[in-house]
Amino acid sequence: MQTSVSPHRALRSTGRILMGPGPSMVHPRVYEALSRKLDGHLDPEFLTIMNETQEMLREVFATKNRLTISISGTGSAGMEAALVNLIEPDDDVLVCVNGVFGARMCDITERLGGKLHRIECPWGEVFRVEEIEDALKKSPGVKVVAIVNAETSTGAHQPIAEIGRLCRETGRLLVVDAVTSLGGTELSVDDWNIDVCYSGTQKCLSCPPGLAPITLNDRALARLHARKRKVSSWYLDMSLIESYWTDGKRAYHHTAPISMNYALHQALAVVLEEGLKPRFERHRRNSLALVKGLEALGFRLFAAQGHRLPMLNAVWIPEGVDDAKTRRQLLDQFNIEIGGGLGQVAGKIWRIGLMGETSTRENVTWFLSALESILYSQGRLKQIGAGLEAVVQAYAT
Ligand SMILES: *Cc1c(COP(=O)(O)O)cnc(C)c1O
Repeated sequence: MQTSVSPHRALRSTGRILMGPGPSMVHPRVYEALSRKLDGHLDPEFLTIMNETQEMLREVFATKNRLTISISGTGSAGMEAALVNLIEPDDDVLVCVNGVFGARMCDITERLGGKLHRIECPWGEVFRVEEIEDALKKSPGVKVVAIVNAETSTGAHQPIAEIGRLCRETGRLLVVDAVTSLGGTELSVDDWNIDVCYSGTQKCLSCPPGLAPITLNDRALARLHARKRKVSSWYLDMSLIESYWTDGKRAYHHTAPISMNYALHQALAVVLEEGLKPRFERHRRNSLALVKGLEALGFRLFAAQGHRLPMLNAVWIPEGVDDAKTRRQLLDQFNIEIGGGLGQVAGKIWRIGLMGETSTRENVTWFLSALESILYSQGRLKQIGAGLEAVVQAYAT
């Protein structure tokens, strides 16, 4: 490994295979977009790029919402933007927690002075609509419900449609975290009655981190415009950002991260060229093969059967296997990054990402071979080949 300490050294690519919980592999067209020469952020060409980006974002979010844009910041900025615009001090907010990102929404809600109503279900499991219904009966004052669609800390896939219907029928606004789901599995903002939905660029959109796509419908905007107080964050105030993204207004708010906007434009173009359905099917198929291979090696999946994400495969680390050492071997010997556990499952699970460009047959096969080699050399497998065989069979059927 390169261990030079010269501050003047050229930065060379490691060629890593990014199979963690994000960032994912980036398409060459997106890298090219990043090196495109700058136009000004109010240049007519840049405004055209923004308009096209909005159109493509509407397609991937499956929404007609006019206010569908990207926030300058990572997925967490999208989360913060969603909540800071809807919540005023003392507003009752129901947050559903089954992992790290639900917990982050609670933290933000409390910082905003919202009255937090927190419900939990075990990590790796998902909420049933009845649980949300009960919670809303107990706290009838709740105005905003927040939930994570794809819990990247556990690999659990939360169904949204019924919760969306419930919130719509009972007059609550629904905020959905789709940071990991967008572009990797079905998401239908309008059909599922989601009022605010946000994402990030570095998961299944396969773009570097730096922007947070977000969409707000008219119900959410009505609430924003009826606020008694100003949004407590100037930078994330959607009523200000809205003017920059509206044709005819284009009022300067902050300088858009221009290169990142080029990159997102191309990332979305790549997604839509493939087509959403084929893309979801590719994610599903590669995940199934990976899971077959892991199970053949004796691994147990962490998330509940029937509620597993195709782009984030969480497995229990087998008894006696050294978490940090094994991940380091994957990195040093095979150039593969996978993720460790967060929070209460730190040291207990691995998170193997197959997001966007990372989700390929080559990567699944290479990873399984690498993992088998390492476990064999650690003396944990008597024979080599069972995982790989299962993968080959999975792709043959
Ligand atoms: C990654 C992620 C976030 C946070 O995004 P950052 O880009 O790390 O700020 C939020 N929610 C979920 C579900 C995520 O997977």
